[in-house]
Amino acid sequence: MTIPPLPPGSTIGILGGGQLGRMLALAAAELGLRCHIYCPDPDSPAFDVAHRATCAPYEDESSLDQFVRSVDRVTYEFENVPHRTAAFLASRVLVLPSEKALRITQDRLHEKRFVTDLGFQTAQFLPIDNPEQLTQGLTTLGSPAILKTRRFGYDGKGQIKVSHGDDVEVAWQSIGKQNAILEAVVPFEMECSVVVARGSDGAMAAYDVTENQHENHILKISSVPARVLPTTADEARRIGTRIAEALDYVGVLAVELFVVRTSAGEHLLINEIAPRVHNSGHWTQDGCQVSQFEQHIRAIAGWPLGSAERHCDVEMINLLGDDIGQWASLAAEPNVALHLYGKHQARPGRKMGHVNRTKPQARRDR
Ligand code: AMP
Repeated sequence: MTIPPLPPGSTIGILGGGQLGRMLALAAAELGLRCHIYCPDPDSPAFDVAHRATCAPYEDESSLDQFVRSVDRVTYEFENVPHRTAAFLASRVLVLPSEKALRITQDRLHEKRFVTDLGFQTAQFLPIDNPEQLTQGLTTLGSPAILKTRRFGYDGKGQIKVSHGDDVEVAWQSIGKQNAILEAVVPFEMECSVVVARGSDGAMAAYDVTENQHENHILKISSVPARVLPTTADEARRIGTRIAEALDYVGVLAVELFVVRTSAGEHLLINEIAPRVHNSGHWTQDGCQVSQFEQHIRAIAGWPLGSAERHCDVEMINLLGDDIGQWASLAAEPNVALHLYGKHQARPGRKMGHVNRTKPQARRDR
């Protein structure tokens, strides 16, 4: 799919007004493009930095109608865009990444089947539609295993570890009695991710692989270079590239991966795909010539992709909840780039900002 490039001065509509939408809008502004943010939450950090904002439900067709009239293209900052909203907008304007990426990544079962069909590995999994299947699944996959809702899970929400002897009815109830999958627990050495961009002409740009550490299921630290073998880093980029091609994707996507080490060496299992810019790619703002945010805007605007080459080592640290109180001392540190999201309330675990701590490049993984 080759698309007409949007000239500077054009307006991009973004569904979702969180920090990802905010950083996309800032990157678009650098390229002379305007953004119109659409989000139902009046307290949306992206509203502060956009040319226009609409605060309305995603199901409100009259607001969507006005929104779509004011924009030249639409993209999104989160994968749970309701199907009807995406379809309504796509009938009027080009929406990128396309509906196929949303459809597959909104459902863990579809996503797992999609990547295994491409020949990649995931944790062993089974569809679970009732408590009886859960009991049976624990016997097949081993105990403990992880029960995850097929839809609307993020940052560890909508999932629970279940073991033999646990009350399966209680586990089933705790995830809201919804269609789910059961996953075997992966004995991973490390979690990492890869962020890739694909242009409408099929050009690809893959960033260096990032090593990720979580706290209470929320990303805390991402570092590059990741401490993986060069062959593993190559394989991660191949996975990201292949997935983007198979989705005929336009924009930035991230693939979260588990690194498993055995006597046979190091290999990767896919955890999940995010059809959007990703928290583990925030280091690119200060580590690369073209950040993931600018890259996404370039891709969906039909511009050439920029260089994804890394020019320094970076440790990205999320400022969660009260961590935001450290802003003054962080701002005084040399080699720290501070990115704050302008959120008013620092609830525990809420992503309030991040820092990129940079240092000269020690090693390149390609
Ligand atoms: P998810 O929401 O699927 O990304 O899961 C959140 C976190 O839970 C992951 O980043 C892992 O730390 C952990 N996790 C998820 N699935 C598995 C699994 N199958 N085996 C081991 N850990 C997992």
